[in-house]
Amino acid sequence: MENQNLLNEINKRRTFAIISHPDAGKTTITEKVLLFGHAIQTAGTVKGRGSDHHAKSDWMQMEQERGISVTTSVMQFPYADCIVNLLDTPGHEDFSEDTYRTLTAVDSCLMVIDAAKGVEARTRKLMEVTRLRDTPILTFMNKLDRDTRDPMELLDEVEDELKIACAPITWPIGCGKEFKGVYHIQRDEIILYKSGQGHTIQERRVIEGLDNPQVEQAIGSALAQSLREELELVIGASNEFDEELFLAGELTPVFFGTALGNFGVDHMLDGLTEWAPAPKPRQTDLGEVTAQDAKFSGFIFKIQANMDPKHRDRIAFMRVVSGEYTKGMKMHHVRLGKGVSISDAVTFMAGDRSAAERAIAGDIIGLHNHGTIQIGDTFTQGDAFKFAGIPNFAPEMFRRIRLKDPLKQKQLQKGLIQLSEEGAVQVFRPLRNNDLIVGAVGVLQFDVVVHRLKTEYKVEAIYEAIHIATARWCACQDSRKLDEFQRKASEHLALDGADNLTYLAPTMVNLNLAIERHPDIEFFKTREH
Ligand code: GDP
Repeated sequence: MENQNLLNEINKRRTFAIISHPDAGKTTITEKVLLFGHAIQTAGTVKGRGSDHHAKSDWMQMEQERGISVTTSVMQFPYADCIVNLLDTPGHEDFSEDTYRTLTAVDSCLMVIDAAKGVEARTRKLMEVTRLRDTPILTFMNKLDRDTRDPMELLDEVEDELKIACAPITWPIGCGKEFKGVYHIQRDEIILYKSGQGHTIQERRVIEGLDNPQVEQAIGSALAQSLREELELVIGASNEFDEELFLAGELTPVFFGTALGNFGVDHMLDGLTEWAPAPKPRQTDLGEVTAQDAKFSGFIFKIQANMDPKHRDRIAFMRVVSGEYTKGMKMHHVRLGKGVSISDAVTFMAGDRSAAERAIAGDIIGLHNHGTIQIGDTFTQGDAFKFAGIPNFAPEMFRRIRLKDPLKQKQLQKGLIQLSEEGAVQVFRPLRNNDLIVGAVGVLQFDVVVHRLKTEYKVEAIYEAIHIATARWCACQDSRKLDEFQRKASEHLALDGADNLTYLAPTMVNLNLAIERHPDIEFFKTREH
């Protein structure tokens, strides 16, 4: 019986993250989602990391920002019949590999698009990452209170550029000053928008049925008529929602609204709780583990350092894949082959750090890490399997790192390799010289590394520019061919922190040429731990 209760609870979990381009409205929508989850009372209480923060901010400020970002790292709240876990994806200067890796720890994603702009660069990249696991995607077209692009054109752009079919669930009635609300295609209702009520949950003003004469009264007869004509076209020309295609990551339900005006966010949450998957199974080297498996298991997808000035600790974030964590339980740390008792894991109910008594499949817990936990580590209740699918991603920015005091080369190398194990940056050692090259996905990480090298490893380092555009991990079954490749391409080859062969390309053109010239070599954009 108790087991059945646990299964019911697991099935109510919805664990998701938001993907968007900076300034599309992720912070604002997060705030409104928390408002609906009754995790906050009025909007305006979640501090965003605004675009005015710069990568060159001093450490205290960085730490404060990180402090903010950890309390919002994972947010758990109830909505409808579900318990929702929202994982933060660092977005502005703190954009990093963690942003990518967080997407491997969720079961669905919400894509937020600025409806005045359409599909933007960062969204494209993040969608590419969700494709690794065919994650189901919901879409929110934001800022309808402003003049936006034509909604049909926006759907076409998403379909063309992101290769995902769109199924509008709601449809906007006007935009900008003329934004009147949305028509809920599935429910056949018009939900009317009232401006200036963004800080609270609004009273719902609903007209049942598109043909209801109240529509004329509410939005005027000219608009009512053109809306009916438009919808006839839209419904004819667009995809119907199909749950199977959604779950396969091939079709996205689309909602329209304004996060700032707190309109439409609840429609999206209704869709998320109704359709998004409960905790999904994960692959391991010994087969699949499902959320319903009785024994506890989980994996580490992110390690965050120096988050709270009062606790100078590091937190390892674990996605619970199966079973249940209870306070004080013993876990098996698979990589170390050792049992560990976890008495003080952290949970993230309603945006607060609090001591977790309990967490179940789908939830995230934070483990205090004193250097023994790495990205990708698996914890179980005794079994010795290892979760797959928590990769490193090819860095997009590179700098050569150099010591101020050349005698400390050993410490520098040790520090960099340890920091790379935490997953914030990657380190590469070219085959042909003694350079050390730091690669990152987001620019803030470079500052963090220099600061931590100084405080934790007592080495002062500086960066120099280096001409590298991208990296690929290289592999080949045939060791003879691999040797030949190493000889011919040595000028561009390096070893990463875990001694994997990596091609550092000065330009994309160079990379494409290398791929062409060495057809027997495989080039990978991600690397499994
Ligand atoms: P993030 O960078 O994606 O987290 O974006 P924010 O939530 O910080 O929003 C960026 C800017 O857009 C802020 O100035 C918000 O107030 C504004 N914004 C967000 N949603 C809306 C909206 O629905 N309408 C309008 N007019 N502005 C919005």
